[in-house]
Amino acid sequence: MTTDAGGIVGEFLSLKESTDADVLAMQCGDFYEFFADDAELVADELDLKVSQKSSHGSSYPMAGVPLSELTPYLTALVERGYRVAVAEQYETDDGHAREIERVVSPGTVVDPDGAEARYLAAVEHEANADGDPWGVAFAEVTTGRFHAAAVSDLDDVRAELHRFSPVELLPGPGVREDDARLADLRDSTDARLTLHEAEAFAPGRARHRLGDHFGQQALGAVGLDADPAVAAAGAVLHYVEETGAGVLASMTRLGGLDPGGRVALDATTQRNLELIETMQGDSTGTLLSTLDHTETAAGTRLLREWLTRPQRDRAELERRGAAVAAFAGAALARDRLLDALDGTADLERLAARATSGSAGPRDLVAVRSALGRLPELAAAIDGTDLADSPVPDVLARPDQAAARDLHDELREALAEEPPGSIAGDGGVIARGYNEELDELVAEYEEAVEWLDTLAEREKRRHGLSHVSVDRNKTDGYYIQVGKSVAGQVPEHYREIKTLKNSKRFVTEELEERERAVLRMEERREDLERRIFEEVRERVAGEAELLQDVGRALAELDVLAALGHHAATNDWTRPEFTDDDELRIEAGRHPVVEQTTDFVPNDLDMDRERGFLIVTGPNMSGKSTYMRQCALIALLAQTGSFVPADAATLPLVDGIYTRVGALDELAQGRSTFMVEMQELSNILHSATEDSLVILDEVGRGTATYDGISIAWAATEYLHNEVRAKTLFATHYHELTALAEHLPRVANVHVAAEERDGDVTFLRRVREGPTDRSYGVHVADLAGVPGPVVGRADDVLDRLREEKAIEAKGSGGGDEDAGGTTQAVFDLSAGQFAGAGGGDGDRGDDGGETGRDETGGTFAAHAGNGAAATSAVAESERDPAVEEVLTALRGTDLTEMSPVELMATVQEWQDRLDDE
Ligand code: ADP
Repeated sequence: MTTDAGGIVGEFLSLKESTDADVLAMQCGDFYEFFADDAELVADELDLKVSQKSSHGSSYPMAGVPLSELTPYLTALVERGYRVAVAEQYETDDGHAREIERVVSPGTVVDPDGAEARYLAAVEHEANADGDPWGVAFAEVTTGRFHAAAVSDLDDVRAELHRFSPVELLPGPGVREDDARLADLRDSTDARLTLHEAEAFAPGRARHRLGDHFGQQALGAVGLDADPAVAAAGAVLHYVEETGAGVLASMTRLGGLDPGGRVALDATTQRNLELIETMQGDSTGTLLSTLDHTETAAGTRLLREWLTRPQRDRAELERRGAAVAAFAGAALARDRLLDALDGTADLERLAARATSGSAGPRDLVAVRSALGRLPELAAAIDGTDLADSPVPDVLARPDQAAARDLHDELREALAEEPPGSIAGDGGVIARGYNEELDELVAEYEEAVEWLDTLAEREKRRHGLSHVSVDRNKTDGYYIQVGKSVAGQVPEHYREIKTLKNSKRFVTEELEERERAVLRMEERREDLERRIFEEVRERVAGEAELLQDVGRALAELDVLAALGHHAATNDWTRPEFTDDDELRIEAGRHPVVEQTTDFVPNDLDMDRERGFLIVTGPNMSGKSTYMRQCALIALLAQTGSFVPADAATLPLVDGIYTRVGALDELAQGRSTFMVEMQELSNILHSATEDSLVILDEVGRGTATYDGISIAWAATEYLHNEVRAKTLFATHYHELTALAEHLPRVANVHVAAEERDGDVTFLRRVREGPTDRSYGVHVADLAGVPGPVVGRADDVLDRLREEKAIEAKGSGGGDEDAGGTTQAVFDLSAGQFAGAGGGDGDRGDDGGETGRDETGGTFAAHAGNGAAATSAVAESERDPAVEEVLTALRGTDLTEMSPVELMATVQEWQDRLDDE
């Protein structure tokens, strides 16, 4: 022992030393106690009271929670990211001992109530791996889901982390050994990082462990053979086993990450398209929240999974589409089915609770009632339009007979509405299930009946009024007699207590009956517990069945929800084509159309027209249009209907987006760097079958850089990648590309300008737009009137290629006529000093920029010297002009040094004469 403290605190501190958990909860009788630093921490986090515990001359902070209340406290601590070790007390020959039984961590806490999936993840990297160098594994202890795969780069890892959003992550030794890699991983997730022992990641051991648990064939079946992937999966399994909540058994199946082939959808794109979270981090106003008409938590989970993992498997998409169509067309049956699903328990999670031994009587009743819904669901489908669709197959997937058997057994075994726990008054197990219990209960009830009627009998027998028989913790059973008649009690009454208005008595017979009742209660509780545990074991043995049923119900829920949304929002079933056509008629944005009077737009792309440059004023609707196109493609490949009058789409292999990023600014990363990283990722990853959305490229740098990059990226995407691309840009120069690159076409989002006012039409039309209406947006944004007026003025002059006077202060007084300090001359492309001012343009200068019409200007440093140096040729002194002409005409090779000196002398004299 490494501590001076002895006694209970010493025991606590030495147990704490033996674990790497952040906090230890140690059972002491009826409480779980926290001592020393842990007490302070827990008190701080959970608002517990701290007291002081003296031990061997020192005093230690102490905080505690009653045994029965540990779970909510544990959950709260774990939700705050702590790992908590729980030490249980057990009897030994010479008293008590305590041992750490489990460590509860964010990824291994069994939380049946939460709707959110709580994934535990592991990521490993191995530079010299045969295949892909990264391995990822995700497990959800409460539903038993387990997925693992090898992926090729950090971007893929990020995309998976975004999709599963784990709560706890185990970085493998190959990640930990490289600080930058670990930092990258840390930046990619909100999960708590737990440094689990490196040996758990050793591929040999990991493979062995996985084979033992899932069966040797399972690894091959999901193609799990790369070392990093095996290491990650093995480590997750090891960690779940170690932390020992007993949930390992709920993990019945090993899955890959993309069984049917999925659409690449990186984390950036998931965010840009606001699938699960908006760009601002809200969960409302997302695609998920818009579509989520599901009735169950499992349904929400599955919908989220579908949206973030679109499919490329045409047969699967046709199956889902047909089911959604059936639900869309059968409103009554749909409502009936959704009603039947309403309130069904989360079977996947309950299975995990059963296998971990934490399921209580009400959990098993929830299992029973969920299983009991199956016939009702079948009835909702039978004889309706749903019957001829793939819907009945979904329900038929789990083993119906086994589900019925389990349901019947639970009905026989468990009371209709059992109490929450076994301890107490019994009543968990149904009558007629166990003979021994039935007999015991009958006997018990008889004894209770005797006690219940005792007061009446005593009144009659001894002529007493004011008699009652009751029971409490300290006195046990007693006969209570009113003070007024207390003197008349018979001899054999033994007084045990005097109260204000009454006295309490016991008799020998009563005491004997009481002992009998207590014995029976104890026996009944033991027996009920034993029977209940058997029933729970039986349910745990059916974990796989429960997961199957749970998933089938979730799928019905999602299909019905999608059908509901399609029917109530006029969505249409998309068609898939192999002809490389992408045609959307009257498409809408699925989220924006909910709150706006939305103007629908078409999209027409095919082999000959695969790259659209989208121009239009700011705020006209370019982003919305492009996102709606991407979302329609994505929805189609989740099996959903789409917001359009008609849609014909190819099956895309990836959706890539680059959208002006707000949040990266907040993260302090250079936006331009991020922009280029995203562009680079797209140019590397997209293929001919991908859909690419670029919302401005090159904005984060100087204009010429920006145009050059946008131009080159367009050429590359068009010529090499050949991905279907929508590219919104404010560089009007790019619209010229349509004349040179055969598959490029221009479209613009139209706006109308009349009498200086701009009306946004929200209509996408062929051809480029002619101007950008930026000044109008400045006006909308509340830029002061004089600035807007002046900007209009400047714009007009630029369009007319006229010189613009730069208004400036520079000490000049506007009214006194000294207002013009410099003139911008479009034809010369320069500023010229004029009017005798100091040339201060009030500009920070030194940049180049572009105007709307394509004219170029060079803005020089805004001081007097610069303005002078920029004097236009036409305004120079004739003598200077002459000297310059002579200088230009001088051929140095034809002159001797002496001649040269003479000539220079002559020039100097001429200039001096001036
Ligand atoms: P841009 O990308 O051209 O700057 P946005 O796509 O951000 O413009 O759209 C600007 C605003 O117009 C948004 O508030 C959006 O909701 C609205 N909007 C865009 N397209 C439509 C449409 N087709 N129908 C109705 N409102 C639209």
